[in-house]
Amino acid sequence: PVLTGGPSTRQVKLDKECELRVEVRPEAPLQLRILSGTAEIFGTEIPPEIWLTFPPSLKFAVFTWYGATIELEGTTETDYTADETPMISYVNVHAVLEGRRNRAKASPDDSVSSQGPRVIVVGPTDSGKSTLSRMLLSWAAKQGWKPTYVDLDVGQGSITIPGCIAATPIEMPIDSVEGIPLEMPLVYYYGQVSPSLNADLYKVLVKELAQTLERQFAGNAESRAAGMVINTMGWIEGVGYEVYVILRFYPDYVALIFLQGCSCYQLIMLGAIEKLCSMLKDVLKSKPGVDVVKLQKSGGVVSRSGKVRNIARKSRIREYFYGPSNDLSPHSNVANFNDLSLYRIGGGPQAPRSALPIGAEPAADPTRLVPVNINTDLLHLVLVVSFAKEPDQIISSNVAGFIYTDIDMQRKKITYLAPSAGELPSKFLIVGTLAYIEN
Ligand code: ATP
Repeated sequence: PVLTGGPSTRQVKLDKECELRVEVRPEAPLQLRILSGTAEIFGTEIPPEIWLTFPPSLKFAVFTWYGATIELEGTTETDYTADETPMISYVNVHAVLEGRRNRAKASPDDSVSSQGPRVIVVGPTDSGKSTLSRMLLSWAAKQGWKPTYVDLDVGQGSITIPGCIAATPIEMPIDSVEGIPLEMPLVYYYGQVSPSLNADLYKVLVKELAQTLERQFAGNAESRAAGMVINTMGWIEGVGYEVYVILRFYPDYVALIFLQGCSCYQLIMLGAIEKLCSMLKDVLKSKPGVDVVKLQKSGGVVSRSGKVRNIARKSRIREYFYGPSNDLSPHSNVANFNDLSLYRIGGGPQAPRSALPIGAEPAADPTRLVPVNINTDLLHLVLVVSFAKEPDQIISSNVAGFIYTDIDMQRKKITYLAPSAGELPSKFLIVGTLAYIEN
């Protein structure tokens, strides 16, 4: 029920080009509506008059280009108004991308100029990369384009769940509450929350994803002209991944978000961004037509500790099954052990110890597939449903989705929760590393 006009209702007047930065309390949702003027949340316009309900712990900003009055119902963890934002420089990037899209649309038969803009967003962890990607996509969708969002950040998983890389067309401005639509994403399962934990596999999957998208664009002039926005991992992990990604996707824009400031932590980042900049210049020397745009980090971006990220990952997995507002009901289905084949990626020694020099430890082969017996160790793990037709296709196949299982060893049956009803599209399942305990 929407409670309005109570003691916790208040109005906030925002001047032009200002934003209200809000952190919803962990224990209760927050309601908000626009009373007058216009405002947007990360590029998506807020509909007038209607109360929107934001789930607990969400962090967001209501930005207005021309001024607006908004009303809040409920208390927040924090909220404050900021009149300094990097939004003008962000929307300028959007304007340049629009120019490229229009040019691409005007020449559908030319194999080079029919390609719309490809933007790669790079920057340190917690610099607002996902937020910038989201704005660029929503602004484009508002103009009627269907750009492709490519999320290579395995840490948070904004398209499906953490541990995946994925791509999906964005046909409408991204819903401020529901997030990225889950209709037809192209998903590859990596299984870790950092590329460095299995760098070889990460690169194999980035290559597969890039090639599949390339094939799709070849047959679809509309999405080709709309282009891509590619979100990456915080590069502090190791600059090499960005370089690899850039070479795979060959962008024409690299939006580099940098931190400004003089605290010790930020100075380290600043130093490192110079290193990234010079590496990018080196990589891009042989690739004409790539612009590197330096953008400032928004002061509103909230830094997250390792613990907070862990909690966010668990709630992402929960959202996959139950929806961000907890309003979806997953379907429960039953399968026999015999009908399923389970595998783990990246286990087992690469070479027998006897074949190695004395004293050397056998290294695990990162892209090796190991069959897994069904037992109670798999309880509370998320299993990944592969589209593979044969086991040797599992690594390079994209995935259909995720299930959460309960195991009955006596009856040799698995009861699983899936977002939709019906049989699984394949019998090949990958055992994930991400646990999710229902409560
Ligand atoms: P990661 O290190 O996980 O890749 P990132 O660089 O992609 O992070 P974001 O996820 O975009 O960073 O932002 C971090 C958090 O800050 C998010 O919860 C986001 O909603 C919030 N945030 C971003 N910009 C603002 C803003 N202007 N006002 C309030 N909150 C914001």
